[in-house]
Amino acid sequence: MRMTWKRGTGVADSPVIQAVEHMAERPSWDCRECGQSWPCAPARDDLAGSDDRIWLAMYMSGNLDQAMGDLVPASPAVMFDRFLGWLQQPARTGELVSV
Ligand SMILES: [Zn+2]
Repeated sequence: MRMTWKRGTGVADSPVIQAVEHMAERPSWDCRECGQSWPCAPARDDLAGSDDRIWLAMYMSGNLDQAMGDLVPASPAVMFDRFLGWLQQPARTGELVSV
């Protein structure tokens, strides 16, 4: 099953997303503001401001899914690091682990 996120589903309408100025341009997935590969450092900073780590992981997973379709052929390992590798969430023990 292919996961996609559409406006109106609640994920893309989050106040955090509306506050992010550095958004991706499709199908290149370069930042509209700075031209770097998205999520660029400013976008990551803005997105990391979300208190809802599960929401952020779901949002970035949806973007990864769409980018994998746009950036063919893309290395799954490289794309995972780009879209999800920078996410961290607190483990139950209180330690930080990569998602
Ligand atoms: Zn940017």
